[in-house]
Order: sequence, then structure tokens, then C-alpha cells
Amino acid sequence: MIIQPKIRGFICTTAHPEGCERVVEQQIQYVKAKGQYQGPKNVLVIGASTGYGLASRIAATFGAGANTIGVFFEKEADEKRTASPGWYNTAAFEKFAHLDGFYAKSINGDAFSNEIKERTADLIRKDLGKIDLIIYSLASPRRTHPVTGQVYASALKPIGHSFTGKSIDAFRGEVKDVTIEPANDEEIANTVAVMGGEDWEMWIDYLARENLLADGVITVAYSYIGPKLTHAVYKDGTIGKAKEHLKTTADKLDKKLKPLHGQALVSVDKAVVTQASAAIPVVPLYISILFKIMKENGTHEGCIEQIYRLFNDHLYSSHAPARDAEGYVRIDDLEMRKEVQDAVMEIWPTVTSDNLTEKTDVQGYRDEFYRLFGFNVDGVNYDAEVNPVVKIPSIDSEDVVQDSNNTK
Ligand code: NAD
Repeated sequence: MIIQPKIRGFICTTAHPEGCERVVEQQIQYVKAKGQYQGPKNVLVIGASTGYGLASRIAATFGAGANTIGVFFEKEADEKRTASPGWYNTAAFEKFAHLDGFYAKSINGDAFSNEIKERTADLIRKDLGKIDLIIYSLASPRRTHPVTGQVYASALKPIGHSFTGKSIDAFRGEVKDVTIEPANDEEIANTVAVMGGEDWEMWIDYLARENLLADGVITVAYSYIGPKLTHAVYKDGTIGKAKEHLKTTADKLDKKLKPLHGQALVSVDKAVVTQASAAIPVVPLYISILFKIMKENGTHEGCIEQIYRLFNDHLYSSHAPARDAEGYVRIDDLEMRKEVQDAVMEIWPTVTSDNLTEKTDVQGYRDEFYRLFGFNVDGVNYDAEVNPVVKIPSIDSEDVVQDSNNTK
């Protein structure tokens, strides 16, 4: 099959196995070049196949020599369709991890379900004994509640009032005003049910009951705060409510883990191009401006740079992780610097469709977006035939027709 990108709105419906492999390899090389640190030994990453979760798995394996179990929800290829990028990423990750002699096994299925929790627990019990780091990095548009069977769909909307602001169609190169009507109470509650902390707590409670948490266990979930510019749609919107719930859950889990000398944290990460962030209105334009400024001042980072810092400088440094007044670990510090945000605010009102390329790094945004799917990667011949069917060496895959994970 010759695999080319097929963009539909803010998703790409194809992925390139060789391109994905190279992008994973580059992240591994980054970690190897940064060097080893004393880190976790047995790690569970929930949401391990793309974005921040994949970077966490790579940083734990190649930076600290950890054994990892990765849970995710991805699609395998068939005769007509390529696999999803997270599938190819994981195949590549496992290949490189195994080559270097590291334990890495993966579970493909709905992390919100009891079944996947049970299968993960069985694997931990059988292979690793206990887990000392659990990364919770899911980004999903919906969740089926494991007890009630109710399906919740998240909505990315402001709360209390409608919002009108600039947004881009990065692929058409168009800047336009978008108006988003405020969420109703049900949409707020549904978004909290999907992206809040209930499922995280279910995971930790379950693993604790099964006696699979090591003494000193750490669990971390990821969040975003961002500048005022994005607050209406992010921090003060439905997703922000879900993230508040995630933080309340962290505080609750932190107490529950005390008998094990453990801790639960929320790390606030930088805005990066992932499948999840592409779906949020306003954010892609903000990212395009932010990248321009951070690249110019030499502070630009992607997922792997952020997560390496999180592990090396915060979670596994010689001192306890530094937390802000509200208890968050902040690795978005470089993004939130005053001079960076002042520069974003100066550019923001001046951006139009005509000057988009000059005023922003929209090209960098597009490049990154393509790279999520294994396109635009140096050294890959996209005109050559490639076999889309790639096996993940140690996969335990749910035997059901999967919901598309590409609609987040
Ligand atoms: P992503 O879309 O790259 O990754 C999401 C992961 O969740 C994938 O591994 C996917 O397979 C998995 N997943 C989704 N639904 C699942 C299900 N039902 N069962 C099992 N696995 C499932 O997302 P990301 O941007 O890396 O986001 C991860 C976390 O980081 C989120 O909490 C997000 O809010 C946070 N974050 C993201 C950004 C950003 O700019 N992208 C910034 C700060 C924080």
C-alpha cells in the first residue's frame, strides 16, 4: 500500500508505519542523549500510545530502565485501512525496548472498563509483582461507565456565556472567528465524567485492593491551564471543570496512598500538538503563535522534553517535587513565562489569513500534526509501497470491533 495523509478536519485518517517508527526512535534518542536517571522500576502507563503517555513510557524505559505496561485504545490495520498512529508507535516502541533488553508489554482496549483493569492487574501480578509509577494520560471523547453502562460524551465548550474568538483551520490557512455556545449542565457533567478523575481513582483503588502498588508508589495525571487567551474554552470551560475534578481526585488519592508512603500528583504540561489538542477550538492558533515565540527564544519543547524534565527534575530528583500554591507540579513554566505570554498577546490580535505564515509558526504546527501520523518525516519515502499490517510484539488486544479513537 502507498500511504499518504488524508486529512479530515482536525484528524488524519491514515498513518504511516515507518514514519511513526522514526518519530518514536527520535524520542528514544533524545532520552538516551540526555542520560540515565534513578527513576521508577515498574511502570503502568494508561494512555501509552501517543502524546504525553507515549513520552512517559519512553522516558521511563530509556531514561530509568523501567519495565513498562502500556494501556491504550488503538486500531490495527486491515486490508483497506492503515492502523492508527498509536498502534504503529507502540509496535516501534516495543521493538526498540526489546532490542535493548527492556520488559515492555501492551494492552489494547477500553481503559474505562473493568475488564481492561482486570487484565492489566493480572499482567502486573504475573510479570512485575508491584507497580511504583502509574501515569494516567487518557484523552478521550467519550466514556462508558463500567458500573452503570451509561455513555458520556465530552463537549469542549465555555460555561455561562457564549464565546467568540479567533481560531484557525491550519490546513486551509484560514483565520476566522468562531462562536461557541455555552455548555448546559448535562454537558458539563458529561465532560467531567469523561475527562475528570473518577476513572483514575477507580484504577488506583482497584490496584490497591489487589495489592499491586509498591511502597512509595507515585501516580501522576496530566493537566493544562494555559493563558487567559484560552481560558474561556479551556480552564474556565467544560474541560477545565474536568481538570479541576482531576486535581480534587489527586488530593484524595494522595491521602489514600499515605499508608504506602505514596503520592498522587497532577502535572501541568505545556500546550503541544497532539490529536487531543487539535480538537480544542482556539488552541491550535495559540499553539502556532506560541511555537514561533518559543522556537525563537530557544525554549521550545515537545512531549518528550517535557516528560524527561518531569521525571528527572521533579518526580525522581533528590528533593520532593516542587509544587505551586495549589499543589500542582508545573512543567509549563517556560510556556507561562511573562515575556512569552506578552509576545503571544502582542501577535494574537494582528493575525489574519493573509499574514498567518509570517506572524505564526502555522507551518511548524502542520509539520508536527503530520508527524503525529508518521508523515513529513525525513528519510521516509512516501511514494514507496509499505505493508500497513504491523504486529505489536507483546499485545493483549480486546477482541471487539473498536470504536474509532480518532474522533477526539
Ligand atoms: P493523545 O490523544 O495523544 O493520547 C491519548 C491516549 O489515550 C492514547 O494513548 C489513546 O490510545 C488513549 N486512549 C483514549 N481513549 C482510551 C480508552 N478508552 N481506553 C484506553 N486508552 C485510551 O493525548 P495527549 O494530548 O497526550 O493527552 C494526554 C493527557 O495530557 C490529557 O490528560 C491531556 O489533557 C493532557 N495534556 C495535553 C496537552 C496538550 O497540549 N496536548 C497539554 C497539557 C496536558
